Amino acid sequence: MKCPRCNVDLQPAIRHKIKVNACPSCKGMWFDCQELEQLEDEVFDFGEHAKGTLVTSAVPTSDKCPECGAFLNRFRYRFYDLEMELCDRQHGFWLEADEDDRVLELMKHEEVDLQRKLIAEDRWAATLKRMRSGSFLGKLRDLFR
Ligand SMILES: [Zn+2]
Ligand SMILES: [Zn+2]
Repeated sequence: MKCPRCNVDLQPAIRHKIKVNACPSCKGMWFDCQELEQLEDEVFDFGEHAKGTLVTSAVPTSDKCPECGAFLNRFRYRFYDLEMELCDRQHGFWLEADEDDRVLELMKHEEVDLQRKLIAEDRWAATLKRMRSGSFLGKLRDLFR
């Protein structure tokens, strides 16, 4: 599996309790698609109203999916202003270096006391876990159809 940017081999890594494939050069991270139980996925049902408000600006990039080589689409997910690149064939999504740290910091700022900072990390892990589910990626893709 090659980095979409650098074309070097991605290495398995653990970021904030999440297994990813990370680039040793640019430090970007690939989150491959993982199927989850239906129940968990329902939390992320957008509904008609959310369309166009949660996700904005899908832009084609010259970065290639590590799994199929198709060009990735960059978009912004308004939830924590997260920017990522998605494979249209639902293989997964790409996050740039430290993008996950930035979101985690935002989550932590929402928490009041020290003890709850630990909860922020769990929440981020749960968020990423849901976002890499096949049906979630499919919904994202459908927003641009
Ligand atoms: Zn790279
Ligand atoms: Zn792909």
